[in-house]
Amino acid sequence: APVGNPEESGESPGSVWPKDLIPLEPGETAWQVVMKKIKELSDWDGRDPFTVADLDVLASRHQLFRQALPRVSPFYAVKCNNNPWVLRVLAALGTGFDCASQVELEQVLGLGVAPSRIIYANPCKPVSHIQYAAHHGVQLLTFDSEEELIKLAQHYPGARLVLRLCTQDSESIFPLSAKFGASLELCEHLLKSARDLGLAVVGTSFHVGSSCQTPHSFMQAITNCRRVFKMGLRIGHDMSFLDIGGGFPGKEGPDPKFEEMAGVINATLAQDFPEGSGVEIIAEPGRFYAAPVCTIVVNIIAKKAVVETGGHRKLLYYLNDGYYGDFRISLREPEPRMPTVVKALGPEPPLFSCLLFGPTCDAFDKLFLEELQLPELDVGDWLVFPAMGAYTSTMTSTFNGFPPASICCTLGPELRRLLESTPQAGTRLEQRLS
Ligand code: PLP
Repeated sequence: APVGNPEESGESPGSVWPKDLIPLEPGETAWQVVMKKIKELSDWDGRDPFTVADLDVLASRHQLFRQALPRVSPFYAVKCNNNPWVLRVLAALGTGFDCASQVELEQVLGLGVAPSRIIYANPCKPVSHIQYAAHHGVQLLTFDSEEELIKLAQHYPGARLVLRLCTQDSESIFPLSAKFGASLELCEHLLKSARDLGLAVVGTSFHVGSSCQTPHSFMQAITNCRRVFKMGLRIGHDMSFLDIGGGFPGKEGPDPKFEEMAGVINATLAQDFPEGSGVEIIAEPGRFYAAPVCTIVVNIIAKKAVVETGGHRKLLYYLNDGYYGDFRISLREPEPRMPTVVKALGPEPPLFSCLLFGPTCDAFDKLFLEELQLPELDVGDWLVFPAMGAYTSTMTSTFNGFPPASICCTLGPELRRLLESTPQAGTRLEQRLS
């Protein structure tokens, strides 16, 4: 069964730890845990795919975010990776949370997180989910249309509303503005409608698109927020909340560096929302926190060698995880991700053009659109994909009867102490350890 829910997991024999939580020995690394698991699974011929989430990496991403953007409180985007231990660690570290639905609200509230640390940041919400937020005191909700305001006036008149603005997001790998965000021209009308409906708009939000490639998108969007703040104040709203969304890079790559992006954001904030302006500033990072946390390990379950016209040899590898599992987002990424091959190979093995397919009967079930150059491998060999924590496990299905990869999390002594000393986030752990 897929693990990942501490409430459901059992315990390993002879250990007080939940089955999906692996305390690292001093000096031990998550990578060593990956290798150990590969060996164990290979020894008994159970080669199901699995994920190892390194919770210490998660904590270090939080530290990096706080250092680089000291005026911005992170409200982690649950949709990116909702593993219960990921959320528990973040709750213990004191982040807020961005939820997109009732189920996400339930998950975060269930950890004992105060409703004031949650933003329900989906501009188009089902009425029953709005009612749930109202009932549980989650006050911050986003909107970008008059129709949503009418629903909110009827079902949650006491909400603190955040107007989501449209952004220039053409330089993001996953743009969002075709679906969400009010244009600047529409804002005045929306702010007046809210006032006339008796609703309180407290601020603005935006999202520059996921995996944003340029800090200028943030710069422009923050400056637009300032214009809308002025409009809102004029119309009679108490504008005091700025949400700069997600879009921060998930991996260390050539461009843009997170620190550079943060530098531009800090400078723009200093200009448009200077310290002392009384404006609370949050962000909704997802990918930045979760991407580097997880390593996904998959196995070759079948293989075909084809000879193309011209005598070119191509290898088709069929893996036990794919588009309907953890690799749904990767088909939309510009480049294939290069796995580490776990096999003893010669110093410079010949490489072949390879296509990686998932396990289902659907021909669309590929890991990447493009071919990769890999050595000749065999059924039973393992491929390891690092930095796969963002939009992977949350997008899996059981299509064709293939369950999602199991997930286990590693944590070092410092994080273990933090969880143990945080009453709500560590409740379950304390019970287990007592
Ligand atoms: N906030 C909202 C409203 C989103 O839709 C998303 C992603 O789609 C995020 C935050 C997280 O974005 P990212 O993972 O790019 O940081």
